Amino acid sequence: MTKFTDLNLDPKVLKAVADAGYETPTPIQAGAIPAALEGRDVLGIAQTGTGKTASFTLPMITLLSRGRARARMPRSLVLCPTRELAAQVAENFDTYTKYSKLTKALLIGGVSFKEQDQLIDRGVDVLIATPGRLLDHFERGKLLLTGVQIMVVDEADRMLDMGFIPDIERIFSLTPFTRQTLFFSATMAPEIERITNTFLSAPAKIEVARQATSGENIAQNVVMFKPSRRERAGSEKRAVLRALIDAEGETLTNGIIFCNRKTDVDIVAKSLTKHGYDAAPIHGDLEQSQRNATLEGFREGRLKILVASDVAARGLDVPSVTHVFNFDVPGHAEDYVHRIGRTGRAGRDGKAIMICEPRDEKNFAAVESLIGKEIPRLDDPSRKGGKEIPEAAETVTSEEKPKRASRSRSRKRAEPTQDAKKSEPKSDEQPVAEAPQAETPKAAPVASENTRDTKRSNSSRSRGGRGKREEEVLGLGDHLPTFIAKSFDDR
Ligand code: AMP
Repeated sequence: MTKFTDLNLDPKVLKAVADAGYETPTPIQAGAIPAALEGRDVLGIAQTGTGKTASFTLPMITLLSRGRARARMPRSLVLCPTRELAAQVAENFDTYTKYSKLTKALLIGGVSFKEQDQLIDRGVDVLIATPGRLLDHFERGKLLLTGVQIMVVDEADRMLDMGFIPDIERIFSLTPFTRQTLFFSATMAPEIERITNTFLSAPAKIEVARQATSGENIAQNVVMFKPSRRERAGSEKRAVLRALIDAEGETLTNGIIFCNRKTDVDIVAKSLTKHGYDAAPIHGDLEQSQRNATLEGFREGRLKILVASDVAARGLDVPSVTHVFNFDVPGHAEDYVHRIGRTGRAGRDGKAIMICEPRDEKNFAAVESLIGKEIPRLDDPSRKGGKEIPEAAETVTSEEKPKRASRSRSRKRAEPTQDAKKSEPKSDEQPVAEAPQAETPKAAPVASENTRDTKRSNSSRSRGGRGKREEEVLGLGDHLPTFIAKSFDDR
């Protein structure tokens, strides 16, 4: 079996790898490192969790160990789709340049231009950036890309999803024709194929098996959930989620809950917190400082449950995630593979549990067809013997409230996520670092009423919540005066 010491890596890099505790390269590393060290272009078809980050950072550090950085002319460039992923790549560089003298700068949104400009002015060996932020710097005349000898595109398929391909093409055209390109993507969509045909020259192609389809270390389950009434779907689904979490008991030490929409990320996180769970949201609309703090807390084990959107959690490397919950069936089957790949990392066991509503059944069929197996069904744990377990009152969130402001409207739009779904079929997440956010859901203030320990009957549990109000609306026809509606809230 190949060992890192068999690869022609700089001794200083080898020492740092040994310090990190790695002896044997993963398949993507064993394939990509020798080719990259020979100066060849590399096309790596691999997803996160396969060790792909080290497969480009280790040869880059080795290749860059000779030569010096020049002011405003980075010698290498790593492009990542999200801030989080870029920050993670930067951490990898820190780990493996422990004994090497290389400088790096991280160009991501949410960090001041001034600080980043100062670093670039001094000259950096490695520039790690999100595409939009890189082009911002370039357009301000602060950066020259003509010194780039090695360019890495990480998670190209996600770049495609986020609409970054034109930026990537532009950045390619700003770098020298003679550069070496290391290109990574989990899948080879036709558009990705086109880019690689255009910008890569006779690449060494290394394809590694998808972790989720090959790794049998992730136990997968699904709950086929049918709400008792459409307008109760949200709160009943959150009750199912809580029951699933509870059922895992002590085995759940670090879990990620994925939602398809940012609004749901906020609602689910708020609801869990209100019910006494240690949970926090992460998505592209939150302040960078808040996202960093949340992620750090999660990585360090201070935060138990991270509620996330696909984009925000993409590529996150937290080795100890014990559970992944899919609050929604993802719109793209590939995302299921990415999501559950957050658990069961580095040979550990993991568990992935999904909730599937009747309207998600088509997407669910696509997931099963992609992974090539049937996902075992679990009984709905929130129902005992077909009866729903009464849950504590759910406070209405700001995202749900407007749908109830007018009764006639609330009837038509009982399903709050339909509109978002129509306009953005896959996810409401926009590119994190670059594009202005299409939607900025504001978290509703947590209600002062302490509902956690208050078990109520089904009929009274959602006083002031959607289910109850919808019932009142139906009972009173279309002319319920606003002051009556208000009195329910204030009671
Ligand atoms: P990545 O696919 O780059 O996100 O890496 C996934 C995880 O694998 C990270 O936690 C790495 O630290 C870890 N890793 C990278 N290379 C190796 C290796 N050769 N052996 C074991 N774990 C590794």
